[in-house]
This record gives sequence, C-alpha cells and structure tokens, in this order.
Amino acid sequence: MQECIFCKIVKKEIPAEIIYEDDNVLAFKDIQPAAPIHLLFIPKKHIPTFFDLQPEDDKIMGEVQRAAAVVAGDLGLAERGFRLVANCMKDAGQLVFHLHYHFLAGRELQWPPG
Ligand code: 5GP
Ligand code: ZN
Repeated sequence: MQECIFCKIVKKEIPAEIIYEDDNVLAFKDIQPAAPIHLLFIPKKHIPTFFDLQPEDDKIMGEVQRAAAVVAGDLGLAERGFRLVANCMKDAGQLVFHLHYHFLAGRELQWPPG
C-alpha cells in the first residue's frame, strides 16, 4: 500500500505528532483539528474500511479502542470524556481509506453531527 498516507505515517516515511504507539496501534494528531484535542487512532495494519475487517482483526480493533481509553486517561479526560467516531465510505465523508477513529475532546461536542 505504497500510496496510503497513514501507512506512510506508520512507517515514519512522513512526519506526524505521535501520541501513542504499540505493536498494533498508532495514534497521532490530526493535521486539521476539529476540536482542541483531535487525534487519529489507527491499526498499523492497512485495513481500508470496516467492510474489509476479517475475524482475525477483532483483537487488533479491540486494542485500538482500548488505546483510546488509555490515552484519554493519560490526558486527564476520565471525567470530561471524549468522542470516538469513524467515517465509513462516501456518505460518512471518509477521505483516507485506512480505517481510523477520530478522537475528539476538549470541548462540548454537538449531537447529532452534521
Ligand atoms: P476521514 O474523513 O477519512 O474520516 O478523516 C481523515 C482525517 O485525516 C482528516 O481529519 C484529515 O485532517 C486527516 N489527515 C489527512 N491527511 C493527514 C496527514 O497527512 N497527517 C495527519 N496527521 N492527518 C491527516
Ligand atoms: Zn494504509
């Protein structure tokens, strides 16, 4: 997946402000923040969308979500909380086809989203 921007961030071929990293998970600051804290949590494995998930990815995706909770705790958000949201395909506005969760925090977020 030479052309995938998030795979390039995983391989450190392009820079990103990395907030969390382990064997299977990477979290970094979104380049265009939509909230005071806007991170992206991704599996290091290239998975384009939720539709591409395989049963063997269940563990990795659990790790991605749990990493978000760990980082939230480290950032002092245990009380205020955060939003984890993933865009899947066109109607949701997915632009990068490497599965990712947006981690949004630091202000009161509106619901429903636009
Ligand atoms: P999507 O619309 O696919 O859910 O969100 C893609 C997100 O990736 C956007 O919020 C966008 O700002 C972010 N993004 C796109 N390219 C880069 C990049 O090169 N570096 C970082 N840190 N974020 C990026
Ligand atoms: Zn990728």
